[in-house]
Amino acid sequence: MLRVAVVGSGPSGVYAAQTLVQQREVPGVRVDVLDRLPAPYGLVRYGVAPDHEKIKSLQGSLRTVLEDERIRFLGNVEVGGAALPTSRLLELYHAVVYCVGAARDRLLGIPGEELAGVHSATAFVSWYSGHPDAADEVFDLPGVDTAVVVGAGNVAVDVTRILARGTAELAPTDMPQPALGALADSGLRRVSMVARRGPSQGKFTTKELRELGTLPGVDAWADPAELALDPLYTDPGAAAAALPAVARRNLEVLRGWAGEPPSAAPRRIALRFYLRPVEVLGGPGGRVTAVRFERTAPDGRGGVTGTGVHEDIEAQLVLRSVGYMGVPLAGLPFDPVRGTVPHAAGRVLRAGRASVGEYVAGWIKRGPTGVIGTNRPCAKETASSLLQDAAALARRELPGDPLDALRAAGLHPVRWPGWLAIESAEAELGRSLGRRSVKIPDWPGLLAAAGSPGPAGP
Ligand code: NAP
Repeated sequence: MLRVAVVGSGPSGVYAAQTLVQQREVPGVRVDVLDRLPAPYGLVRYGVAPDHEKIKSLQGSLRTVLEDERIRFLGNVEVGGAALPTSRLLELYHAVVYCVGAARDRLLGIPGEELAGVHSATAFVSWYSGHPDAADEVFDLPGVDTAVVVGAGNVAVDVTRILARGTAELAPTDMPQPALGALADSGLRRVSMVARRGPSQGKFTTKELRELGTLPGVDAWADPAELALDPLYTDPGAAAAALPAVARRNLEVLRGWAGEPPSAAPRRIALRFYLRPVEVLGGPGGRVTAVRFERTAPDGRGGVTGTGVHEDIEAQLVLRSVGYMGVPLAGLPFDPVRGTVPHAAGRVLRAGRASVGEYVAGWIKRGPTGVIGTNRPCAKETASSLLQDAAALARRELPGDPLDALRAAGLHPVRWPGWLAIESAEAELGRSLGRRSVKIPDWPGLLAAAGSPGPAGP
């Protein structure tokens, strides 16, 4: 039997586990899927926006995999800490596949970023998604009339949409009650989503962009003069020749909005382009009042140059949404520039050589790019490297059932029935609030629902 630990139960971890047990070349593979959290599914549970129910429903197929009898889910198990260093994990399993994602946000690196009211989109997403590490985050929404979101990727679109949506649309989701209440109390009227480059260079996908124009009570708008700064916007023929289909379709959506007269909708989303943030401005009490941007111009090579012209956009809330970054895991090599673990076809490289029994998949392998489905081929590549190595790996004798060793180390793994108990408790919480299932947003609540005697470590 080949015993494998997959660390992380998000899409890349689950796809890796699925590939390992469903293949036929190496019989008898058993996989434990470990997660630091008591709940599975990673970013599908804690990153996909609550109003994107179709993408959320992917949890159904991830569940089917985790319920396979050859796979065990072990939640509430932190790898890389004192109780379970990576070296110990490798003693307990023939192989370990790290699928730990990219948990950190990037900073803008400009003055004023530390002012009250400036947050990372990652923190905002974690908060409204009920991530237990974000239970103490405070978003002072009632005082917010206008918000600025810096960045033009799908996360920026997500947070812009959630800010602009009405409570009636969010209430049927599983958003935790405190976040729903705070968003309901906000008097927000305007969200500006600001890109440093042009409309043809937005990182968002068309479906997500288009959705901003379909929200009830919300007017999506882009300034025609600003769009026209992009040569590929003004010349559809050149755009058709030079751009991938997604960028061309994005331009069509923006053209539609630019032609629309302003409506009387109570809330407005403004898409702004060619503005790079240079300073966050604060007022009395150290709270953000505006973001200062420098107007940029295309440099003809896909980048932009500064023009020395500045514009301040008022904001009482600023979310920087400029990409995720991997965090080093103690005991694993790490490339601090790329924010990933060095690898060759998924085999972890130590000093340039493949480390026996250690693998990576997902964002910690390739960086924070792609949609959920991108993780499937990524995990498959890693799994096939592991399976090629299987004969040599399986020769090592293991000390016994790793679960006993985890418990002996003072850990309290949450097994699958514990997770199902969390699900039931969330359904019950929803019923008590007159809503559908509602997430439990804190560690004590999750562990109590799972019937777990204690926190992650001793
Ligand atoms: P992203 O797609 O890499 O977008 C990052 C954005 O930040 C870009 O517009 C980038 O502009 C901008 N940026 C970077 N540094 C900046 C700076 N210093 N100042 C101003 N702007 C800056 O990252 P993401 O939005 O975090 O998304 C991560 C991944 O998750 C993506 O693959 C995304 O598609 C995926 N995702 C998908 C969905 C969905 O399918 N519904 C939802 C959420 C996330 P430049 O282009 O100029 O660098």
